[in-house]
This record gives sequence, C-alpha cells and structure tokens, in this order.
Amino acid sequence: MKARTFPGGIHPAYRKLTAQSPIRDLTPPPQVVIPLHQHTGAPCQPLVQKGDTVLKGQKIGDVEAAVAAPVHASLPGRVVAVEPRPHPAGRDVPAVVVEWDGSDAAVDVGPYPDPDDLEPARIAEIIREGGLVGLGGAAFPTAVKVRPPAGTVIDTYILNGAECEPFLTTDHRIMVEDPQSILLGLRALMKAAGAPRAIVAIEDNKPDAVEAMTAATRGMPEVSVEVVHTKYPQGSEKHLIKALLGREVPSGGLPFHVGVIVSNVGTAAAVGELFATGMPLIRRVVTVTGKVRAPANLRVPIGTPFSYLVEAAGGFDGEPYKVVAGGPMMGVAQYTLDVPVVKGTSGVLVLGPGDRIPESTACVRCGRCVESCPMRLLPLYLEAYYRAGMIDRAETLHAMDCIECGCCSWVCPARRPLVQAIRLAKMEIAARRRKAAP
Ligand code: SF4
Ligand code: SF4
Repeated sequence: MKARTFPGGIHPAYRKLTAQSPIRDLTPPPQVVIPLHQHTGAPCQPLVQKGDTVLKGQKIGDVEAAVAAPVHASLPGRVVAVEPRPHPAGRDVPAVVVEWDGSDAAVDVGPYPDPDDLEPARIAEIIREGGLVGLGGAAFPTAVKVRPPAGTVIDTYILNGAECEPFLTTDHRIMVEDPQSILLGLRALMKAAGAPRAIVAIEDNKPDAVEAMTAATRGMPEVSVEVVHTKYPQGSEKHLIKALLGREVPSGGLPFHVGVIVSNVGTAAAVGELFATGMPLIRRVVTVTGKVRAPANLRVPIGTPFSYLVEAAGGFDGEPYKVVAGGPMMGVAQYTLDVPVVKGTSGVLVLGPGDRIPESTACVRCGRCVESCPMRLLPLYLEAYYRAGMIDRAETLHAMDCIECGCCSWVCPARRPLVQAIRLAKMEIAARRRKAAP
C-alpha cells in the first residue's frame, strides 16, 4: 500500500512509550470534578445543586444553544459543590463536583436501534443527548459537525487514526482493541451526514492498527483503510484531506466546503459505545506518559484529577519540569495537578528537566520555519509583525490560517516562540473582527 502525505511538516522523535500497553480500566477516584464547559460553543448551565444525589450517566448540565453538548455525571454519588474549578484549558470554569458513593448505580438506559434503522436527524439527536464531542482535542460538538448547512453534499467521511502527536497512543490502542465500536460509530456518523463512503486514515508506524481495522472492515465495501506517512501534523484535518483526496480546504473554510467531514477514531468509538449501551460520554482513554514510572493508557471517568492519573502511572520519575494536557506539540502546560480529565483530554504528559527549552536568541533568517510550515505561511514575519504591533500586516500574511501545529517553533535553531506569538496575533485579529462585525 502506498503511503500518502502533504508538503511541509516535521519528523519529531515519536516516543510512543505506551504503543503496546493495553488500555487499563482504572478504579474510579473518590471525587470527580466535571466542568460545565468541555466543548467548543456555549457553556452548559447546571441542572443539579449542592446536596443532590446523582446517578452515573445522569445529565447534570445543558444549554439551549446551537453549538453545545450536555455533560453527564461520570460516577454516582452526592454533589458536594457547584463552583468554578481549574480547567486544563488554563482558566477556572464552573464545575459540578461529585463524591463517589462507591456503587455503580446508573441511569436506566439500553442500546439504541441500529443506525441503519434510524433517520439521520434522529441519529444526530442521540449523539447530541449523549454529550458527544470530538475526542481528538478540539472538542467540537459531534452532532453539529455531522449536520452541515442545508444543501451541503458530503461524499466522504474521514476517520482520523493518524495520531501524529508524539507520546499519545489512545487512538492506536482503541483501533487495535476495539475496532467494532469504531465501525458501529462510523456507520452512525456516515448515516447522519449522508456520506456514502468512508476512509480510515492511519500512519504507517501503526501496522497492528492497520491490520485490525483492515480485518474489521472486511465486508464493508464503503469503508477503506488508507495508510498515510508518519509525519507531523499528518492528523490535521486539512492535511488529511489533501493527502487522501487531493482537495484543498479554502482559506477560512471547513472540510464540509469540500464535501468532507473528519472525525477522530476515538470519537467514532464513543459514538459506537453510545449506540451499543445507551450510556452517554462519561469516560475516556488517556495516555499518561513521559517522566512517570509506569506510563499507561488508562480508561477513566470524566472529571478524574490529573494527580490521580499520575499516581496511577507510578508517580513522577524524578523532578518534573512541566505537566502538559495533551501532547508536546499542541498540548497546554498546567499550573496545577488539580485539573480534571475533560472530554478532550487525550494525554497527560510529564516532561523532565532534559526537555527544558533554552532561551531564545535573535532570528538568523535560516528559513527553516518557512520550509516546515504545512500551511505555507511565513512564521518569522508573522512573529515579527506581532511583536511590532503590526497586526494588519500579520492578517494580510494569513495569520488566521495558522493551525497552531508548532512545527515552526520546533525547527527554529534560535528557539523563537513563533507559534505562541502567532496564537496571540490570531486572538487579536479575531477580537478586531468581532468588534467590526455589524
Ligand atoms: S527558523 Fe527561526 S531563526 Fe530560522 S528564519 Fe525562522 S524564526 Fe528565524
Ligand atoms: S505558522 Fe502555524 S501552521 Fe505554520 S508551522 Fe507555525 S504553527 Fe504550524
């Protein structure tokens, strides 16, 4: 099979320490902290208050907004607080704190009918009520994604199993261990979106996942498994579409503008579990890795504190330098281990003193950042314009097309904080656009 790819990108050391570690179900923690905002879109309002008792799977937060996803209790027990708590995105967010009662008492649900027997709108409704969001990190509500604007024709559904971020292995293990849930979920997603065919894209460094998914899709002629090159950021939606279909998503556009929807394989597995059991999204797999004594892939209730995960992975292996939610390229550094696992938490990465980034020096105009940029941008100029306060110039150079992959910062010999500056430039451009909007 010929592996496909895209121009630009980098080849960091992959350090997938847990690629062969089977997913382990962790004993739940004594308490879970469930933020009411775990998705792109409007935050949920609480449906419970301090002192209430809740069942596993009970809806505890929702909002009437077009782009949103409800949240559910991941453990049964007593609500001990509804208050702002630290969130892995780096700010305090209102959260429901549940003290586990030690039981497995759950809401009374059962499997949904097979997606083939349901109307697309009903499937989207089930996915919404199940609280499904993209589990790859962006946490965009899945029910919204599968129902693009009226008149849009979706000809291909891409399942993203590239998992190109170093260290992370949750998608890899789900593909090896539970391809059936992925395919049940994929059938639901395809039916909801009206997509007649699907491609499962997997990087060529995961031959066991390719084998498992190829075997599981036998007898499904509408689904093909495609091998893509191991290169970062191969898992970016736009680059997968380019590599697999040769289509360019226009600047400012979304995959549906070129007839495609992309979801993560972990998201599809969660949709499959929802249809098979009726239980909403209350748990996920997290890779706990880096400088911990026993790196692992752990399946945990949403709301489990990072401190509990680090302990379950044997504790810190030496003095930590940084703890990151997600991978080293796109993850977010944490200031406390009190933050909980949210729907979009794919990993907890502990970096050691050897991973410390040296002080930055002046740009030597080597051009490496330009060569590596998969969006064909000019990172050195974007940074310089941002620092000079010339935001208009940064906008003219398409700063908003930056996917924040971090390739430019990674290759820079002067260790310029390029992606950080570009991210700030984008925030400023977005704020200006909001202000200028009628
Ligand atoms: S890689 Fe770094 S040093 Fe080289 S041109 Fe870009 S910003 Fe300058
Ligand atoms: S400019 Fe943006 S898209 Fe280009 S390499 Fe840097 S972070 Fe990635």
